[in-house]
Amino acid sequence: MNIIQKTGLGLFLIGFLVWIATLTMGKFTLTDQVLKDNLKPNHYEQLRPSLAPMLNKTYATPFGFNDDLANTIDQVNRGYKIQNQMDKAINDSYAFALTKAASHGIIREANVPLFWASIGLAIVGALINILAGLRKLPGIKNDHIYHNSTTSRGWLGIIIGTFLIVFYVIIYFFPQYIANWTFLVDPLSRALSGTPASQWFLYGTLYTLAILVMGIRMLIKYRHNRYQQVRTVSVMFFQLSFAFIIAEILIALSLPYYDFKNMWPLDYDFFFEWHLDSLTSSGRLGMFMLVWGIALFTIGVPLFTYLYGKRWYCSWVCGCGGLAETLGDPYRQLSDKSLKAWQVERYMVHGVLVFVVVMTALVLYTYFTGQSNIGPISSYSVRSIYGFWIGALFSGVVGVGFYPLMGNRVWCRYGCPLAAYIGIVQRFKSRFRITTNGGQCISCGNCSTYCEMGIDVRWYAQRGQDVVRASCVGCGICSAVCPRGVLNLENAAPGSRVLIAPEVLTGNDMLRENHKARMTDTQN
Ligand code: SF4
Ligand code: SF4
Repeated sequence: MNIIQKTGLGLFLIGFLVWIATLTMGKFTLTDQVLKDNLKPNHYEQLRPSLAPMLNKTYATPFGFNDDLANTIDQVNRGYKIQNQMDKAINDSYAFALTKAASHGIIREANVPLFWASIGLAIVGALINILAGLRKLPGIKNDHIYHNSTTSRGWLGIIIGTFLIVFYVIIYFFPQYIANWTFLVDPLSRALSGTPASQWFLYGTLYTLAILVMGIRMLIKYRHNRYQQVRTVSVMFFQLSFAFIIAEILIALSLPYYDFKNMWPLDYDFFFEWHLDSLTSSGRLGMFMLVWGIALFTIGVPLFTYLYGKRWYCSWVCGCGGLAETLGDPYRQLSDKSLKAWQVERYMVHGVLVFVVVMTALVLYTYFTGQSNIGPISSYSVRSIYGFWIGALFSGVVGVGFYPLMGNRVWCRYGCPLAAYIGIVQRFKSRFRITTNGGQCISCGNCSTYCEMGIDVRWYAQRGQDVVRASCVGCGICSAVCPRGVLNLENAAPGSRVLIAPEVLTGNDMLRENHKARMTDTQN
């Protein structure tokens, strides 16, 4: 690492530490006004007497504040249970809203300078570190990747993974403890949507920044490769515009939050009552969003996957794919290439697809009939099981937290129901394939090593057989790292894909086989 890279890393770490320190800044005082502004009127009446000892008491950290708050609400609910009045129990989560409203002091008053001293400084440091890569000659340099503890499941990788896992658990289940971080992005939130930042706005901001900053790293690392540059700019653009800016502007216009590039079944709550109601009650634009969302997965997926394969979505558009391809790029070599992993992957990803289809059928049944149960099965229980296990734990905590341990596509490979659906189309009816010129392969294994989906690309290359796997996201890295130019991402007539090589093909045999297959396809 040269001096510029070290300076960048140093600034990044200082910014990161200041960011962590902001969690302990400020004070928390619950007042009657805070309660009135944030609780439903009936809950205010129910909780006000029990919360009296907390009123006007100043807490130095969100931890003590939230301990007392949670204990009081628990006590009130226990009272209702004893009196057999569970219909009065308070199940709404007020912790985040009350913590944020009760907060005061430096974190509120100096949020802009603190933003620049933390997140801003970390961005500048990361960019300096990344831009130093321009001093190297173009071409992929993966030197020492297995000797660096960050990228080889070493202690640094484990620390990064643990931090990501803890971050996801907190943002999903205990956002009250990071209320201070939302102050840092409040000005941005107010500028875009006119509302103060929630934990989800904070998450969206960090997510977008991660894609943009690490996207610049991708643009520099792969600056000799046009395909990598185009698809990286594509995921940066879709995340910044569709998932972040446009979605927030819709809120400013009092329209439903909507990410025009996200679709069912990845967007698993698309058909939930509250979402359908918010779309159908939002005029023409709301109806357009509804039709657009349905058209995307009924027409868009088959059409574009037929034309371009899975890559049109997973590597060019999707937010999860965008993060995996940018923030997750240093970890792509950690994907499991074993046959066992391939077997597990197929059961899991198609299992999640079946789960989401069944859940959505139950949700729609409830929506149209008003009945919440089919026999003993409650549609509300099924959707909350899916939301907890798949929507939060799998896609977030495991999906991103395990980047440094299991590679960058854990979620896409084992859990994403949309990837399973697009994969089926790609496998059976698509023009996409990776052609392999077997005669040129020197069996170095670079392609298999850097395949983030765990595909043993070399196995296909050695036989001169096309790679037509449902899981291939068309990232093109196997082709980029191949020293012999063996692999080529192509689109052509579906029937011309060489699915089973009759024998080991060498040299121009591959071209002849391809030509024969194409001729047969044309005649048919
Ligand atoms: S086979 Fe190649 S293009 Fe497909 S996912 Fe693996 S590395 Fe990416
Ligand atoms: S990277 Fe290229 S040469 Fe090396 S094993 Fe793969 S296809 Fe063969």
